[in-house]
This record gives sequence, structure tokens and C-alpha cells, in this order.
Amino acid sequence: MLVIRRKSLLYKSGVEYADYCINHVEGCSHGCRFPCYAMMMKKRCGVINGYDDWIKPKIVENALELLDIEIPRLKNKIKVVHLCFTTDPFMYKQKEVCDLTLKIIRRLNVDNIRCTVLTKGIFPKELANTEKYGVNNEYGITLVSLDSGFKNRFEPGAAPYEARVKALRCLHDHGLKTWISMEPYPTPNIVKQDLKEILKEINFVDKIIFGKLNYNVDASQSVYQQSKEFYEEQAQAVVNFCKSRGIEYHIKFGTQKKDNKVTGRIFVKNTSRKVSVGLIKQPSLSF
Ligand code: SF4
Repeated sequence: MLVIRRKSLLYKSGVEYADYCINHVEGCSHGCRFPCYAMMMKKRCGVINGYDDWIKPKIVENALELLDIEIPRLKNKIKVVHLCFTTDPFMYKQKEVCDLTLKIIRRLNVDNIRCTVLTKGIFPKELANTEKYGVNNEYGITLVSLDSGFKNRFEPGAAPYEARVKALRCLHDHGLKTWISMEPYPTPNIVKQDLKEILKEINFVDKIIFGKLNYNVDASQSVYQQSKEFYEEQAQAVVNFCKSRGIEYHIKFGTQKKDNKVTGRIFVKNTSRKVSVGLIKQPSLSF
């Protein structure tokens, strides 16, 4: 796999529900065609040439060295670290990415720092070992459809939906917290589907985040004129579903007419800094 070096790794995120964030890979072989906002930004800044360049991920080879420098400086400020917003931490069929991600989660947990993790890949069962990884990490998958035709068109390199859900359920069955990012949710002119069917598949999770599809002309008001009403209704359906089952939720800002600022704190409220007794006993693990 290609490698790059970076000068820093941990940064304060601008995303409403996140605190600090890490992106330890540049590019992503999932190659989403929603389009991928991260790819658009890297292209605009001249970091990559285009899609073909983006789908060849480059690992940050000095990621662990950087964490050794940055964690002591930032750990009292950090509430939670999110992996990742501009790449995928468990990129499907990319063993080197997955191995590095496990080392990073472990490194953060050793210092009592919680992680929220989001993937369109498959969570390794190893994360259920709470002697090694924190019990308060929160593991999430992106799931916006159950239609494999839609997946092949819009998330060509990502894991099949069924496999994503199965791996997430496995972590849930081991007592870990799980969540769903239902974003960017497509409009019916892109794929006809029943939101209730998707919710039924993932009714075991602890949290759901729902958000509209941006940067895609087919989902815009100019092409799909009922876009606003559609998202208002779907978001309300998610809220009702979550309320009826005691699932926490957040509707991404801009999806409904009125944003709910309180639910934006979904990952940072009532946070316990305690991660895992097993890890606290062995503060200087080597990888
Ligand atoms: S998984 Fe995320 S980072 Fe990767 S291509 Fe898709 S949208 Fe972009």
C-alpha cells in the first residue's frame, strides 16, 4: 500500500456531533459516488488528481508516532475521538488500513480516550475484546439502503450491507455500544425504498444519526421538487422510531426545517473518561 507522512493527526472537528477526529489514511477505496465530500475537497485543494487517485488509499505511516506526541498535549481537552470523516477506518478488504486502525484505537484507549468509529466496511470481532479495547467506544456503520443495486452504484468498493450489519450486531451482542449513520439518505427518484424496512434491520442499535443527501443534483429541490417535504417526513419517522424504542437520535442540521441543537451532543454528553480497567492496568503497551 502507498504511504504518506503527516505533520499532525488529531484535530478538532467542525462536525456538529464530533469532538476530536483522526484521518490516518488519504483516499478511500470505497469510492462513493454520492459524491464523496472528502474527495471533492482533496481534489479542490490539489491533493489528489481525481477519482482514480482517490480510490488508491495511502496510509499515514507515522500515525502512531504522531499520537505519542499529540496525546499527552491534548488528552485533557479531548472528550472523544472520531474515526474518521475523510476516509474509512475499516476500509473493505484493506488489511493494512484495518490493522493500523486497531492500533490507533488501542493507543487512544490506553490513554483513557474514548473512540467513536464509523465505517462502510466490516468491524473485526477483535474489538469485542474489552481487555484490549475500551468498553465505552461506540461503533457505527453507515447504512442508507438495503438495495444492493444502489450500493454497487453509489458505494462500489464498500462492504455489502448484510455483512456490515452482521458485524455490527456481533459487537452489540458482546455488550458494546453501536450506532447507525443514515446519511446521506437518498431521495426516492434515486432509489425507491421503505425507510421502515431499514430501521427494522438495525433496531438493536443505541443511536441513529439521520441526514439528507447534499452535493447531488438529483436530490436537490430543482430536480426532486418534494425534497424538503420528503426529508422532513423521513426525519420525523426516524425520530418517532427512536422514541418508541428508547434509541438516541440526532437529525443532521439542515435536514429538517428546524435544527435540534440538543441532540447534536449525542456522543459527548454524560461521557465517562473511564475506558477499560484492563487497559488502565497496562499503560505502556507496545504494538
Ligand atoms: S466511505 Fe466515506 S470517505 Fe470513503 S469514499 Fe465513501 S464517503 Fe468517501
